[in-house]
Amino acid sequence: MKVVVYPAPVLRKKCKAVTRVDKQTRAFAEELKETMLEADGVGLAAPQVGESLRIIALNVDGHPRAYINPKIVRRAGRQVGLEGCLSFPGLYGDVVRPEEVVVEATKLNGKRARVEASGLMARAFCHEVDHLDGKLFIDKVLEPTLGWLVEDDESEEGYKKIKVSLEEAKRSFEKYGGMPPLEELLN
Ligand code: ZN
Repeated sequence: MKVVVYPAPVLRKKCKAVTRVDKQTRAFAEELKETMLEADGVGLAAPQVGESLRIIALNVDGHPRAYINPKIVRRAGRQVGLEGCLSFPGLYGDVVRPEEVVVEATKLNGKRARVEASGLMARAFCHEVDHLDGKLFIDKVLEPTLGWLVEDDESEEGYKKIKVSLEEAKRSFEKYGGMPPLEELLN
């Protein structure tokens, strides 16, 4: 499956609940996980591959899993951290999220389960469940922290962040489907 990039209209749609977990649902969920792993992502939501359905895949702890009709039923605490999104290649910024969440979701065997998550896992759940309601990380990003991450051999981290305003970033995705050409960015 191919990951769609902003401003694809499907990313802004509210996704439909899955009414029956059948063979087709399971096959789709497996493919969603595969696509996430191939793209080296920690999470991927169905609308990001063009399907307006309430299914997400997560891979925070090295155990890729899919969740159907996930719902955040409890949020506690607060964390601020760097976030990106496979539908916004190259773009990163800080987003405030709850430190802990409790999520109810249907597993691939059709059973409803409760999952408690904290830290990065809680962040990933919030980011992916937002996708199902057409909400994107750029809606919540702390704009002064927004930037393009580009490789930089001279820095310790191996990359540097080039600041960009939200409006400029959106324009760049509309024009280039990603970050501007490096020549333009570094000038
Ligand atoms: Zn995302």
